[in-house]
Amino acid sequence: MAIGIAKRAQAIKPSPTLAMAAKAKAMKAQGIDVVDFGVGEPDFDTPENVKQAGIKAIQSGFTKYTPAGGTDELKEAVVEKFKKDNGLAYEKSQVLISCGAKHSLYNIAEAVFDPGDEVIIPSPYWVSYPDQVLLNDAKPVIVETREQEGFRISAAKLEKAVTKRTKALVLNSPSNPTGLAYDRKTLEEIAAVAVKHQIYVISDEIYEKLVYDGFKHYSIASLGPEIKDLTIVVNGVSKSHAMTGWRIGFAAGPKDVITAMSNIQSQSTSNPASISQKAALEALRGPQDFLPVMNAEFDKRRKYMVGRLNAMEGISCLMPVGAFYAFPNVAKLFGKSFGGKTIKNSADLAAYLLESAKAALVSGDSFGADAYIRLSYATSLENITKGLDRIEAAVKALR
Ligand SMILES: *Cc1c(COP(=O)(O)O)cnc(C)c1O
Repeated sequence: MAIGIAKRAQAIKPSPTLAMAAKAKAMKAQGIDVVDFGVGEPDFDTPENVKQAGIKAIQSGFTKYTPAGGTDELKEAVVEKFKKDNGLAYEKSQVLISCGAKHSLYNIAEAVFDPGDEVIIPSPYWVSYPDQVLLNDAKPVIVETREQEGFRISAAKLEKAVTKRTKALVLNSPSNPTGLAYDRKTLEEIAAVAVKHQIYVISDEIYEKLVYDGFKHYSIASLGPEIKDLTIVVNGVSKSHAMTGWRIGFAAGPKDVITAMSNIQSQSTSNPASISQKAALEALRGPQDFLPVMNAEFDKRRKYMVGRLNAMEGISCLMPVGAFYAFPNVAKLFGKSFGGKTIKNSADLAAYLLESAKAALVSGDSFGADAYIRLSYATSLENITKGLDRIEAAVKALR
């Protein structure tokens, strides 16, 4: 049989977080009052100055192809951003603008993974990492991290997972789904292992700007010239400037990797939308007063949500330091039942909470951590209060 779907496409599934979002939306469309804790994007509007830059781009006719890897001016702004925020010096030739950070990550996967390569992914992980590896015929090697270790992979654990076939480590700090982040010392230890074994570090720093309690974010690439030469940093404006729909992300790293990514992009998507590039330029170079306002609101919700979750019988939750997710441990609820149905795992619990509390959230198995569920606080405090009231009642009703 010649016809049929390629094996690599059969090996993957649609993003479970997007699937949950679609389900909640469908229930809302039916008139059901669902509280949506599944959201993976800020509930804030794109800042006005950024919108205006997009409108101006349209009105001035900036609506044609740009260079496939992004405009020179936006690359320059990204170079400035890395210098200013991370102390990282890149040439423009080491920067690529893509259609969202997810697209940057996918370009990396295509550019560096060969069939049989192993890619170390600490769990809990963002849902797309393993599937992007699989789509490029490489092998995800999941290394479990523990709540007691702040969900951070240690140098020792990494060392143990490295083999001759290891090509890369994927790091995500601050993390989706855990909301936790890597301190500088742990990053230094991880960098030493990467340098020793000469493996790439793919560092997803999309939540860099969404941090609380004075947490200081370090890019692993900034910890020395050797680790910088091995690291591809991924970032973007989606989360920091509430621009998820505009689709602008970027990557910076070794010139040969970026050139390969750029070639791939030129043969696949071509340039990210010209209009969005103008808006992203304003996001990076314009006033940044939007960010502290958004962060203060997230901070308030974070404390409220985590406090409420920890007060519930059978649930415990670490205090996140970044992003906009709480990732409570719900394993103590497994084995309990309601109406003759036993909750055996995080998917059962998520289904139960959707059914009886009309609260949509994502089960931890989607992130490779079945003892947990993920609740986003990128929704109003009013919604959070209502949803947590209902979850509390539903959890109490379990026997
Ligand atoms: C949201 C998110 C991205 C994707 O960002 P886009 O720019 O919208 O593609 C990448 N990584 C993580 C961990 C995310 O949560």
